[in-house]
Amino acid sequence: MATLYIVATPIGNLEDITFRSVSILKNVDLILCEDTRTTKKLLTTYAIPTHTASYNSRSTEGKRELIFSLLEEGKDIALVSDAGTPCISDPGVLIVSQVRARFGDTVKIVPIPGASALVTALSGSGIPASEFVFLGFLPHKKGRETLFSEIATASRTVVFYESPHRIEKTLASLVIHLSLDRTVVIARELTKVFEEFVSGDAVTVAEYFKKNKIKVKGEFVVIVSAKNMK
Ligand code: SAM
Repeated sequence: MATLYIVATPIGNLEDITFRSVSILKNVDLILCEDTRTTKKLLTTYAIPTHTASYNSRSTEGKRELIFSLLEEGKDIALVSDAGTPCISDPGVLIVSQVRARFGDTVKIVPIPGASALVTALSGSGIPASEFVFLGFLPHKKGRETLFSEIATASRTVVFYESPHRIEKTLASLVIHLSLDRTVVIARELTKVFEEFVSGDAVTVAEYFKKNKIKVKGEFVVIVSAKNMK
């Protein structure tokens, strides 16, 4: 029976990969990447000689059929995204749902756990995370304001991903919607050289980034404490 492995990769520090992941990446017949150029650095570091191919939302039906035919032949495939755990706010979910729909139980789908920005941020934030709501990336327009109103009344910790282009706009919205008893944590550049946690009420955190424009770059996870739970 063919196996599709869903392999988590580092979110910055290339040492954050498990022995099992490296071993699987070495032994599969093909690695499907969100972007083959991004994954190449990891594969070179660990001397992984496996063939790669890209697979994302722009991939053609022909490409999908090619992947299906490899699985039909009993070949093992690994799926990786640019960083972290595939399918968490990235296009990996596409192929997993298609393989499940096409093959049912005749292809084994095996997730290999590892880094994810969401969990890494929560674990270093000091914000209670026994229960949380993950919003992925916030919509740019439609539904955005409604979401901020929901975050303002959330009874659970809220986590979402944000880009450097929108972080200041998002912080400005949090200033408008959140009372000062809510803690906002920005986890930036996790596992990388300039890793940073900025924590405080929305006004304090927004001011910090206004004053330190040099910090408005890289990758961001935003965490907001639950209402009535600082
Ligand atoms: N699948 C990935 C995961 O498991 O974390 C997430 C993919 S999503 C397309 C990319 C977003 O994750 C970034 O825009 C950022 O919000 C967050 N992210 C990824 N790496 C990060 C890092 N090193 N530090 C902070 N946030 C990060």
